[in-house]
Amino acid sequence: MSKKTHIFKAEIQQVLDLVIHSLYSKKEIFLRELLSNASDAIDRAQYLGLTDKTIVADAPVWKIDIIADKEDRTLVIADNGVGMSEEELDKNLGVIASSGTKAFAEALKAKAQANVPELIGQFGVGFYSAFMVAESVTVISLKRGEGQKAVKWTSAGDGTYSLEEAARDKPGTTVSLKLREGMEEYLDAWRVQELVKKYSNFIACPIRFGEKGEAPKEDAEPLNTMKALWKRSKSEITEEEYSEFYTHLSHDHHPPLKTIHLSAEGAVEFKALLFLPKEAGFDMLMPNKKHGLHLYVRNVFIGAEFDLLLPEYLRFVKGVVDSSDLPLNVSREMLQDDAVIRKIRSSLTGKILGTLAEMMKDKPEEYAAFYTSFGRVLKEGVHSDWENADKLKNLLLFRSAKSEGNKLISLKEYVAAMPETQKDIYFLVSEDLDTVRHSPHIEAVAQRGYDVLFFVDAIDQWVVDSLREFEGKKLVAVDKGNLELGTDEEKVESKKKLEAAAGDYQALTAYIKERLKDEVGEVRLSPRLTESACCLVADEHAMNASMERLMRAMNQDVPKQLRTLELNPDHALLKRMKAMFETAPENPKLADYVELLYGQALLGEGSALKNPQRFTRLVADLMAGA
Ligand code: ADP
Repeated sequence: MSKKTHIFKAEIQQVLDLVIHSLYSKKEIFLRELLSNASDAIDRAQYLGLTDKTIVADAPVWKIDIIADKEDRTLVIADNGVGMSEEELDKNLGVIASSGTKAFAEALKAKAQANVPELIGQFGVGFYSAFMVAESVTVISLKRGEGQKAVKWTSAGDGTYSLEEAARDKPGTTVSLKLREGMEEYLDAWRVQELVKKYSNFIACPIRFGEKGEAPKEDAEPLNTMKALWKRSKSEITEEEYSEFYTHLSHDHHPPLKTIHLSAEGAVEFKALLFLPKEAGFDMLMPNKKHGLHLYVRNVFIGAEFDLLLPEYLRFVKGVVDSSDLPLNVSREMLQDDAVIRKIRSSLTGKILGTLAEMMKDKPEEYAAFYTSFGRVLKEGVHSDWENADKLKNLLLFRSAKSEGNKLISLKEYVAAMPETQKDIYFLVSEDLDTVRHSPHIEAVAQRGYDVLFFVDAIDQWVVDSLREFEGKKLVAVDKGNLELGTDEEKVESKKKLEAAAGDYQALTAYIKERLKDEVGEVRLSPRLTESACCLVADEHAMNASMERLMRAMNQDVPKQLRTLELNPDHALLKRMKAMFETAPENPKLADYVELLYGQALLGEGSALKNPQRFTRLVADLMAGA
C-alpha cells in the first residue's frame, strides 16, 4: 500500500479548527481523552477474548505506556488493545459522522468556545483534542486478528490526513504527538503523573511512564491506582474520590449532585455506584452510550448497557454495575431477557426513585433544580413504567395558577392546599405558560380559590393521559366537558341559573350556531367564565387544542373536531348582542360580531386565526365606527 492523502470531512475540519484555536486553558484534557480511548480499546479486546481464543493464546498483559522524549518534543501513548485496521482508522479518525461531530461543531459555534473540553467529552470527538497540544499526530495501529497489517495515520490538523503501511509487531495502537512549542510541560514526569491521577486514576489496567523515548519497564510502578471504587466499602471512600470517579466515567466537569453506592445481597448479588448529574448535558439530546451506565461481570467490562440496566426515563443516571451472578459470555440479546438483569434493573430503579423522593422531602430546592434539568425525562416514566407509576407521580412538579414565577409544586402540595369544597384536581395543557396563565378557561375555577396545574412541556400531552387520578382525586381538564364546580347545592344552583339564562339566550345561541356551523359543534352558556366573553371547549374525551396543534405540526392527519363555543351570559358584549338580535336580527353587524366573537375564543386559548387579515379589518371597522 502506498501513501494516500485524504481530505477531512468538512465538519471534522471545523471541529479541528475550533479545537486548535480555542483559547481554552485546560488543554491538559487531551491526555484524559487519549487514555480513555486506550482503555476502551483494551476493554474491548478483553471482551473479545471471552470468545476469541487467539487473544487468550496471545496472553497479553493489558497495559498502557506513556513515553516522553524531550529532545524530540514527542509524547507517545501506546496500548495493546483491539487496534484498528486501515478502514477503521480511516472511518474513526477521518470521517466520523456517527459520533456527532457535526452536532458538536454546531454546539461549539452556538456556545462560542464556552467550555470546549466539556463538549469534547460529551460528543465523543476526544481524539481531536490532541491537536490542542500537538502540531502533528501520528497513529500506528495493528488490529487484533489474523491477516491484519499495521497502518500509519498522520495529520497536522490542516485539512488532510494520510494513510500508509507501517511496521508494528504486536497488536494495539500507538498515538504519537509532536508537541507544539510551549507544550513541554506534558513531557515532565510529575506533570503526567499529576494528570493521570487527576483524570485517569480508575482505568483498570496499569498506566506506566517512560522517559527519553524509552518504554517503561514492565515492573515499573503504575501511575494509576486501578482500584475498582465500587468494590470498596463506603466508609473508606472520600467525597473527592467519588467525584473524580464520576468525572472519569461521565466526562462531566461538575461534581455529581448525588452519589448512590449500594451493595445488594440476597437473591441477586451486585454492587452499584450510581451518580445523578447536576445539569443536563448535551447527551440528553444525543445520548453518548460510552458515558452511561457501565456493566461489569466479575471485573470484566461488558459494555455501557444502560438501556438494559435502567429504564429509559432514568437515562441521565451514570455509573457502574458489577455482578458476579451474570454469565460472562452472553450476547446482548440474551441479556435482554435475563432474569438477573431484570432483578438488578428493578432494584436500581427502586433505589433511584427512593433517593429522589428523599431529596424532594429533605432538600426541596436541590430537587427543584434537579427537576428543572431532568424532569422532562423523568416524566416519561409515568407513561411507560406502570409498576412505579405511583412513585413517579409523587416526584412530579408543576407550575400552577397560584404559584408565582418559576416556583414548582407537587401533586401532594396541590391536594394539601385544596379548599374543602374542591373535589377534583384542575389542570390545563398548553405549550406556553403565558397562554395558560391568562386563559379564559381558568377564570371560574380561580375565582373560587382553586388552583390550576399548568402542563406546559411537550411531553405533558402524553403524561396527562396516564395521570388520571392522584390520591383518589380525579384530574379534570378545565377546557373540557361540563365543568361543575363547588358543593352539590352550588352545582344545582348554578345549573338552575344557567338553564334560566339559556332560555333567554336561546334565539341568539341558535343564530350564532347557524353562522358558525362549519367551525363549532355546539353553542351554549358557560359555567367557567367570569371575565371573558367566550371560550372553546372540547368533549371530555376529545383531544385538546394544544394536542391538536402539535399533531398538525407533526403533519398528522387530525380529523376536524368541532368543539363547543361557550358564552358568558353576564358579559356586556353578549348582553349587547342579545339586544341587537332582539331588535333587528337582520342587522349585518351581528354577523361580524359573531365572527369576532369566535376569533376571540381562538386567540384566548392560543390558537391561530384562520384569516387574521379579515379579523383585523373587522376590528378596525368596529373601532372606526365607535
Ligand atoms: P470516541 O472515543 O468518543 O468515540 P474519539 O474521537 O476519541 O471518539 O475516537 C474515535 C474512535 O476511534 C473511537 O470510537 C474508537 O473506535 C477509535 N479509537 C480511538 N483511539 C483508539 C485506540 N487507541 N485503539 C482503538 N481504537 C481507537
